[in-house]
Amino acid sequence: MKQVLVTGGAGYIGTHTCVELLARGYTPVVVDNFVNSSPAALDRVRRLTNHELRSYEADVRDTARITEILKKHDCEAVIHFAGLKAVGDSVARPLDYYSANVIGTHSLLSAMMEAGTGRFVFSSSATVYGEPEFLPYTESHRLSPTNPYGQTKLSVELMLKDLVESGGMTDVAILRYFNPIGAHASGEIGEDPHGVPNNLMPFVAQVAVGRRPALNVFGNDYDTPDGTGVRDYLHVVDLARAHVLALERFEREPGAITVNLGTGHGTSVLELVSAFEAASGRKVPINFGPRRCGDIAAFWADPSQAEALLGWRAEYGLADMCRDQWAWQSQNPNGFELA
Ligand code: NAD
Ligand code: UDP
Repeated sequence: MKQVLVTGGAGYIGTHTCVELLARGYTPVVVDNFVNSSPAALDRVRRLTNHELRSYEADVRDTARITEILKKHDCEAVIHFAGLKAVGDSVARPLDYYSANVIGTHSLLSAMMEAGTGRFVFSSSATVYGEPEFLPYTESHRLSPTNPYGQTKLSVELMLKDLVESGGMTDVAILRYFNPIGAHASGEIGEDPHGVPNNLMPFVAQVAVGRRPALNVFGNDYDTPDGTGVRDYLHVVDLARAHVLALERFEREPGAITVNLGTGHGTSVLELVSAFEAASGRKVPINFGPRRCGDIAAFWADPSQAEALLGWRAEYGLADMCRDQWAWQSQNPNGFELA
C-alpha cells in the first residue's frame, strides 16, 4: 500500500487527485481544515470510487498533529494542496496568505523531516511568472509575481530549492498550474467556491444554471484577438493525473523537477463563454465592464517539459471541460452541501 498524505484533499483539485490516486493503486490520506471545502466532498469521493478514504480535520500549521498522521500511516509522499488561493483576497489580507501558504508549508516540511517522509509534490501556479517577457511561458521565464498570493507561491518554491540544495530532501516536484476548470465526468465532484466566484468558469456555470443574472467581462480592450483576456484552461482531471505521474517518476528517477501544467493553447473569455453555451445549451448573458485590477492580458504555457519529464500532456479539450463543468453544475446547482 503506497500511502500518500494529501493536504487540502477536500478541495477542488484535491478531490479529483484522490480519485486518480485510488485508480492507480495509491492510498490517499486526506488532511484538511475545511476553510474552503466541506467533508461532503470527501463523501462524494468515497461514493464515486467505492473506496474507504481516511481523512483528518487538521491544519497544516499544526506540526505535531501532521507528524503524528504521517507516522501513523507510514506515508511515503505528500501532495500539498492546502492553502489560500484568491488573488484579490490576498491583496486585502496578505498576512493570512503568508501564514497559510508559507508558514503552513514550512510546518508541513518540518513534520515530514520529523516523520522521515521524503517525497513532496507542490501546487504552484503560473502566477509566479508575472507580466510576460515572452509567451508561451517556459519554466525558465523570469519569476516576478504581482500579488501577495503569487509571492507566497514563489516563497515556497525558493524554500524548496534551498531545502533540496541542502540535501534535506531530494524528491520534489513543483507543478505550476495554469487555469484548471471542468470536473469529473460523473458530475459527482467539482469546484464549489464559497460566496461569489472569483474565477471565470465557476461564474459562467452559475450564470448558466440561473444562480446569477449575467457575467461581467473584465475588459474588452486588451491587445488580444477579441479584446478579452486569454488564459490556458486545462481539465482538472488532466491536472490531477499529473500528480500521480510525479509520484511515479520519483520511483523511477529520484530528484527535483519544476514543470508547467497547461495545454499550450490560449482561450479568450468570449471563446470560453461560447464553448460553454454550446456544451450546456444555455445562454450566458454578458456585460462588458472595466479591466480587473492587476490582470494580465494573456498568457499560456509551454508544457513540453511536463511531457519530457512526466510523460504528461493534456488529453481533454475545451468542449470536454465545458461538458463536465456543466454535468457538475447542473447536477449540483448549489454545490455539495445543498445538493
Ligand atoms: P481549494 O480551496 O478548493 O482547496 C484547498 C484546500 O485546502 C481546501 O479544501 C481548504 O479547506 C484547505 N486548506 C486551506 N488552508 C488549510 C490549512 N491551513 N490546513 C489544512 N487545509 C487547508 O483550492 P484548489 O483550487 O483545489 O487549489 C489547490 C492548490 O492549488 C492551492 O494551493 C492553490 O493555490 C493551487 N492552485 C490552484 C489553482 C486554481 O486555479 N484552482 C491554480 C494554481 C494553483
Ligand atoms: N474574468 C472575467 N469575469 C469574471 C472572472 C474572470 O471576465 O467574473 C476574466 C479575467 O479577467 C481573466 C479570465 O477571465 O481574463 C480568467 O480569470 P480567472 O480569475 O479565472 O483566472 P486568472 O486571471 O487568475 O488567471
